Amino acid sequence: MGFDDVLKRYFDRVYTEVDFVKKTYSSLKDLGFNDDNTIAATCICRDEISQTLRSIIKHMWGEAFNLSSLAGMFFAGKTGLSAAMHHAPVEDGKERYVFYALPHIAIDSDGKPGVCRREGREGASTACGALAAFQKEMAGGRLNLALDNEDVEQSLLKTRLLGEIPYGKVPDLIELTKITQTAIQADLERTLDKVVNKDISNYAVITGIQIHGPENNYVWPAECYAIVNGKQIHLKVE
Ligand SMILES: [Zn+2]
Repeated sequence: MGFDDVLKRYFDRVYTEVDFVKKTYSSLKDLGFNDDNTIAATCICRDEISQTLRSIIKHMWGEAFNLSSLAGMFFAGKTGLSAAMHHAPVEDGKERYVFYALPHIAIDSDGKPGVCRREGREGASTACGALAAFQKEMAGGRLNLALDNEDVEQSLLKTRLLGEIPYGKVPDLIELTKITQTAIQADLERTLDKVVNKDISNYAVITGIQIHGPENNYVWPAECYAIVNGKQIHLKVE
């Protein structure tokens, strides 16, 4: 199976990063969000190959608050989110925010998940490296779950994601990336519930998985919605 076959099999629809951000921008524009009245925030991996998405978001929405940790995990917490949620311009008594939260995975031309090439380096590289390291540790049957003060984000990632994996199961990297996407979304939403004042804030949650192909980056959209005047509105990304 090559890249296209794997994509078709595991991700029902994908868009280029530019198309994905453009589509979400235009759906949100219909709901009153635009680059003048809205602040974007991103929760994506620290990996530099993930930053193309952040650059496009910045290009469309302006400078974006950074909530990101390894693998795109949401560890910024109430403090990080509260900070972001006091920064938007106030227009007609409303603040507007858009959150892009996506883990990532590479798939090479042979369809091998986790494998990518990096400019100026020989041989294969890994993405997401943090998720691949966790998966490898699980597959090896010895998982260190102590909080390592010299590896704080990876320790938190392992503990958080392990709670989403059935006991004894070792997910493959694609499964693990999908599990990560739902965990990031759940953590962001749970914290939003605690922090946001829906009377004054309209916001959107855009989730999915960033996919690094052999030639281009793509996004598989997961749940995407806006909360406008306290009401949830599903966003069509198509
Ligand atoms: Zn990563």
